[in-house]
Formats: sequence, C-alpha cells, structure tokens
Amino acid sequence: MNRRLFLSRFLYSAAFSGLLPLTNIANLSAKSPGRVVVIGGGWGGLSAAKTIKLLSPEVEVVIIEKEKVFRSCPISNWVIGQIKTMEDITFSYETLQKRYDIKFIHDIASYVDIEKKIVKTEGTILNYDKLVLSPGIELDYSSIENWRPDYSDIFPAAWKAGRETQLLANKIKNMRNGGVVAVSIPLSPYRCPPGPYERISLIASYIKNNKPGSKLIVLDANQKIVSKGKLFKKAWDNMYKDIIEYRPDSKVVKINPNEHILSTDFDDVKCDVANLIPPQKAPKLLRETGLIKEKEIWASVNAYDFSSSIAEDVFIVGDSTSQISVGRVPKSGYVANSMGKVCGLAIVAELYGIKKFPPSMINTCFSLVSSEEGISVSAVYHYDEKLKKIAVVEGASGVSPESSDIVKDNAWDWAKAIWDDMLT
Ligand SMILES: Cc1cc2nc3c(=O)[nH]c(=O)nc-3n(C[C@H](O)[C@H](O)[C@H](O)COP(=O)(O)OP(=O)(O)OC[C@H]3O[C@@H](n4cnc5c(N)ncnc54)[C@H](O)[C@@H]3O)c2cc1C
Repeated sequence: MNRRLFLSRFLYSAAFSGLLPLTNIANLSAKSPGRVVVIGGGWGGLSAAKTIKLLSPEVEVVIIEKEKVFRSCPISNWVIGQIKTMEDITFSYETLQKRYDIKFIHDIASYVDIEKKIVKTEGTILNYDKLVLSPGIELDYSSIENWRPDYSDIFPAAWKAGRETQLLANKIKNMRNGGVVAVSIPLSPYRCPPGPYERISLIASYIKNNKPGSKLIVLDANQKIVSKGKLFKKAWDNMYKDIIEYRPDSKVVKINPNEHILSTDFDDVKCDVANLIPPQKAPKLLRETGLIKEKEIWASVNAYDFSSSIAEDVFIVGDSTSQISVGRVPKSGYVANSMGKVCGLAIVAELYGIKKFPPSMINTCFSLVSSEEGISVSAVYHYDEKLKKIAVVEGASGVSPESSDIVKDNAWDWAKAIWDDMLT
C-alpha cells in the first residue's frame, strides 16, 4: 500500500472511530503546509481549528474572535430559568490556545478579499491559504416596526449568550407577582429550533414556583411548535395549563417601547417582561464578501466538505450555512461542532493532497421542560450521493419517550463533554 493510500485510509478510520486525537500528519511531512484563518471562535470555528491542529500541528491556525471569552448558548436558557449562572457557561480560550498552539486575535473581522486571500480586522491584515467562516447569526429586526438598537434593553433577545442573557434572567427574577412575560418566536429556520420552547418551559417553571398569579404569553410566528412539539405540549398541559398561553401564527410586527407592547397583525400584548427573538440571517460579513447568493440570506456550501459554493479555499460552517445547500440539519451547536470537524479534516486533506471522505454526523438536542426534567431529540446523518446533501439515516432518529430527570442529567453531561471537546 503506498503512503498516500495508507494515510487516506488512516485518516478516514481515525476521524470516524474516535482515533482523531491520535492522528498526526505533521510527523509524516517536514514542511509546514500553510495558514488557516478561522473567523469565529464559537461552536463551528473552535471545532474546525482544533481538528486541524490535532491532525497536523504544523499547520498555522489563527482564530479571529471578537469576544475575550467563550459563552455558551446551550445551557443559557438554564441561566434565564435561574438554575445556572453566567459563570457556569463562560469559559477561557487559554487551554485551547496553549495546548494546540492556536493563535487568537480578539478583534472584529471586518473585510475579506477572496481574490487576494486576505482578512482584515481593525488592527491586522492576514493572508490565508484556507479560510473558515463560522460567524453564527445576525439578528434581523428589519420587519419590526419602530425597532431601534437601543431598545434591546427593553426587548432583549438573549439569542447570543452574554449581557442580554443576564439581563433577561434579572428581569424574570425581579418581576412582580401577577406579572406577564411575553416571548416571541420567529419563523423557522432560526438558531436552535427547540431553544425558544425550552426557554418558555423554564420561565414557566420558575414563575410557577416563585411568582404567583403570573402568566406567559407565547407569540409564535410558526403554525405550531417547531421541534419536539408533542413532548413540549404534553409537558405544558401537565405542568403549566394556567400559566402558558400559546398563540401560533402570531408574528410580531411592531413594538411600543413606552407601553411595553408587542403587536402582531391581530393583537397587542402588554407585558412586564418581553423576550423578543427576532428573525435571523447570516452575518453581514458573509454578504459583503459575496459569499451569499442573490435573494438568499444564508451561505451556500458543498455539503460534502462545507467548502463555499462561491469561493475557492473558503469553508463555511455552523448556523450561517443554508439548509437549501446542506440539507435539513438543524442550526445547532452539536451540528456546528460536527461541521467543524468535517471541514477541518477536509482542509487538512486538501493541504496534503489526500482524498476526502463523505461526512457522517449526529445531533441530539436536549431541552428542559422544568427545572427538574428534560426531553430530547436525536438524529444520525449521512451524505446522500444523489441529493448531494446531508440526509437523515432512516430509522436511526427519534425523540425521548417522556420528560424525565435522567434527560436533565444527560443534557448537563452532554454540555460538559462538548465544551471539553472544543475548549480543552
Ligand atoms: C438559547 C439557546 C439555546 C441553545 N441550546 C442548544 C443546545 O442545547 N444544543 C445545541 O446543539 N445547540 C443549541 N443552541 C444553538 C447553538 O448555540 C448554535 O447553533 C451554535 O452556537 C452555532 O455555532 P456557530 O459557530 O455557527 O456560531 P457561534 O457559536 O455563535 O459562534 C460565532 C462566533 O463568531 C464570532 N464572530 C462573529 N462575527 C465575527 C467577526 N466579524 N469577527 C470576529 N468574531 C466574530 C462571535 O463572537 C461568536 O463567538 C442554542 C442556542 C440558543 C440561542
């Protein structure tokens, strides 16, 4: 067997059998194969960066990340539900940086030239051999009348973990007894399909025990609960019948900050605490770079390796990618983490001229339905050669039977394991 064939087979089995950390291509090659710049030190970006360094420490990897610390969206609903703190979901990048010799630039990537292969931040200009973009989502308030950015304290989204997460948690905690919370959900696709419904459950669980007489009004732009519908509905009927009022087909189109009102085409909802989760799209950096097709709002990629379908040597992973090109995978941290691994492996394969192999991915989304119990949905995905997309492996997916405390423990264990996977 020649060296290249050996290497490609080894890589394949390593990547999909858990041997990935043991693989070290650099030992087989004396020359540094190039520089990879990663924009976004979140779920997709960290996973791509670490995969590349595990496979080939000789590759120079630079992450451009505007935040100084990593804050996890998964488990951030638990902060809003008063069962975890911001401290529990905030982590340093230091271990990853030191252990794998990954360079970090904490700055905003403001410009990418895909012809000259350079990235600009306020303080630096970097050239790249390969570029990975995993910048997440941009909140899009353009369809909401009266919106102004300084209203985000009155109507926090808390859809990127950080200041607004704490702000919303505080508002819930300090609300009067007999108060009204309103949560608005945008039309799918948005980041984390079950996320809003978990949040609603946890707020309801908190006010049931701590804020007598309070109510929670859900304004869902979708026709029905987008994910784990039957399980959420059952839990809400059992536990929060007098608390949650669910209104489907109720898109928020207008706000009144002085009166604290969210309006749909049919109704005005006056509330004490408003959580306005707006529609979402890929961040403007991707649009300005020309990486999004006309009339689309998410970035189109080749589902085989997450390379951009527009520019060479550019890879896009995570929530920014379009389901039209990838297939029907959810915009989740677990999927972004898997995409990062597939893309990292593909980049190393390209740098060394090794054959690429088809992706295989899994996703489990855990959601708490109360401070004590959770539910989950899982799926296994493969690359469908005919469709040229990621598709569900039939019969290998499903939802958990009922809410249980075991799923709550599973959720916390999953979070700890995947944080470790990305950050240590
Ligand atoms: C409330 C909530 C609960 C969730 N729960 C779960 C869950 O239980 N399980 C699950 O799998 N998923 C969950 N998710 C979804 C998950 O958080 C996302 O799918 C995941 O974060 C996507 O990863 P990403 O890399 O695309 O984006 P992100 O993780 O958001 O990373 C993007 C990074 O890029 C940085 N960035 C952006 N633009 C620039 C720029 N121009 N220059 C420099 N840096 C930049 C940002 O600061 C950020 O750190 C949840 C989401 C929410 C909101």
